[in-house]
Amino acid sequence: MRVLGIETSCDETAVALVETNPWSTDILAQVVSTQIALHRPFGGVVPEMATREHLRNLPLLVPQVMREVNLGLDAIDAIAATEGPGLASSLLIGHSYARALAVALSKPMVGVNHLEGHLYSSFLANRRAVEFPFVGLIASGGHTLLVHALGWDRYVKLGSTVDDAAGEAFDKVAKLIGLPYPGGPEIEKMAAKGNAEAFGLPRSFPERDNLNFSFSGLKTAVRFFFEKSPMMQADKEWIYDLCASFQKAVVDVLVRKAVAAVGQARVERLAVSGGVLCNKMLREELEFACYEAGIDLIMPEPAYCTDNAGMIAGTAAEKLAAGVEPRVGDDINPNLDLFSPEPGRDLARGLSVAAKLKNRHAKDVPQESSVVPPGEIEVW
Ligand code: ADP
Ligand code: MG
Repeated sequence: MRVLGIETSCDETAVALVETNPWSTDILAQVVSTQIALHRPFGGVVPEMATREHLRNLPLLVPQVMREVNLGLDAIDAIAATEGPGLASSLLIGHSYARALAVALSKPMVGVNHLEGHLYSSFLANRRAVEFPFVGLIASGGHTLLVHALGWDRYVKLGSTVDDAAGEAFDKVAKLIGLPYPGGPEIEKMAAKGNAEAFGLPRSFPERDNLNFSFSGLKTAVRFFFEKSPMMQADKEWIYDLCASFQKAVVDVLVRKAVAAVGQARVERLAVSGGVLCNKMLREELEFACYEAGIDLIMPEPAYCTDNAGMIAGTAAEKLAAGVEPRVGDDINPNLDLFSPEPGRDLARGLSVAAKLKNRHAKDVPQESSVVPPGEIEVW
């Protein structure tokens, strides 16, 4: 089964084509067009600009992916798009594009939860079949979540941030000290030259059984040091040390809580994803801690940590192949929750459900033109 996936939840336009096989799901082709340079002067994502960019990119990227594999659109069995969570206007572009394509090709359309995509991304990148149960850590610009994944659509929240997401904390601290957006990679570069023990920065919720995160106290502590020391701000070494200490504090908390969550859930595997997982120190510390604790760490290469469409297409393909009733893809939901009950789970039905969806979308096409001929418009 081949599934075309479209991801436009934030500031990346991504398209991928995946194919399922008995052991894993393979990416046949994928492209990601990032808008970082566009949004950088504004210090964050400007939703209106992101929307226009998705609109411009999608009609170019979909044919590009199909050209790369030398296949026509009729070779696709289903089309998947991110349903949420994300920026409403950005989601709408990818979702509407996918829906229109599904109707035109008379193929099923599947809506995918972006967070479920991130959880699956670790397996996809390592060409592993999904093995439930596992604990998932998602650390991105919008989310910091620990999830006990029991099966498709069966997710239990173990912990989440009570204020800023980990990536958001990197972005805000970077902005404070005058570094460009996105802050994560910029802080990492500065931190590489600094001493992580130089500043005693706070770690929130240190208790082992509390799996929630909080980064606002840490952010305020950095602000305190920075703003109270105007003389020091010109000292590069001092800034390097501050970045290194901040990075270490975030990494410490993420690693400690992820390992504790695996213990609490009594599972063997930890799957990690989200843009913050591009951070080299976090990757190394996770590898070390999991090795020590005997945890099977499933970590994607950085390209699969940030937003990509392989994870969207792959999640849809794996769910269809496993016979899990997918989301029907009728509408976007910017606040889509990973933990709310899904419409249904019938392990025997996957592809027949897909066929049903196909008919459903076919019915959406107006049978006759609804455009009123100019002569019939009443002018008054
Ligand atoms: P979102 O889905 O919320 O847009 P992504 O998964 O695309 O988030 O990740 C973007 C976030 O990851 C940003 O907040 C960025 O600062 C952070 N990030 C990217 N690379 C690094 C890094 N090397 N170290 C720390 N954070 C990083
Ligand atoms: Mg993301």
